[in-house]
Amino acid sequence: MIPLKYQKNENLEKKYYKLITQSRNKRFIEKIDEKCDYYFKMQFEDIVCASPEKLKQLHFWVKDSPDYEQVKEEFKHISSVKQSNYIVNTLFQNMPKEAKLLIYKQVGQNVCPYCNRNFIEDLKIVKNRNSRNPVGTFELDHFYSKDEFPMFAVSLYNLIPVCGTCNRIKSNMIFKVNPYLMYNKKDNISFEYNILGSNYMENEHELEIKIKSSSKEALEDAQKLRLEEIYNRHKDIAQEIIKKMQYYSPEYIECLFKDTGTLFQSKDELYRLLYGGYANPDEFGKRPLSKFIKDIYQNTKEGLGGFDIFSNVDVDT
Ligand SMILES: [Zn+2]
Repeated sequence: MIPLKYQKNENLEKKYYKLITQSRNKRFIEKIDEKCDYYFKMQFEDIVCASPEKLKQLHFWVKDSPDYEQVKEEFKHISSVKQSNYIVNTLFQNMPKEAKLLIYKQVGQNVCPYCNRNFIEDLKIVKNRNSRNPVGTFELDHFYSKDEFPMFAVSLYNLIPVCGTCNRIKSNMIFKVNPYLMYNKKDNISFEYNILGSNYMENEHELEIKIKSSSKEALEDAQKLRLEEIYNRHKDIAQEIIKKMQYYSPEYIECLFKDTGTLFQSKDELYRLLYGGYANPDEFGKRPLSKFIKDIYQNTKEGLGGFDIFSNVDVDT
């Protein structure tokens, strides 16, 4: 999982709330407001724009409440249509594309934060000369499932833009580690490999990718996403990294860096050219597999005796 940065952005939050409610039935929004006031002593807008930390507190409050089933059902039945859930069926299912793109924009990632494998993008499809129809190649995952927590179904920081694969695998499961609330590397997983036979550089079956973490919660989430199984499909990339590291000695890298003059701004950039991923953890979300590539690199580096081509990157992160 790739950590997401949270920074309060009042303008964006107000714009988002307006977009999702402006053309909706005012009476229903008032009804939601009444329920939010009764149960949470908050306005609906405050729940829609609640910070990740506040949402976490509210979710615990709902989950631990003796009235949990009642609260859930009440928020599901705000509609004149029998069995219809206004927040989910109307505000979420019919959310304007502009609001979805706003969520994407505030997350600021090019790659799915759950798997770091698939690109997610906002694209503008030109319909005709005067009109551009915005679309996204991402889906919105409810971090707290909309079935269990319908009151958070349109909450800005409960909606994580992810790839279709992760969204379908996760479905309505609830993760323990919130990408907005990963405060240190211990909350994350790392990739390692085991060598099972002497011909592991040629034969993929003699190499296995393992996911490790000191956090039980992070490991459980990775298992839910089946990341170990999925990343074992990328053993060819691990083999390439190991081979490249044997070929590109530290001395050779130094020569390359010096000989190319001003072509590379830093050794990080040279690393990107050689290995195809970003080295800085803050930039893992820019390109697929960056974390995997970096972890395999680190893993191999330890085996090769600790050489390091980085000049200004915290290699332990
Ligand atoms: Zn994904």
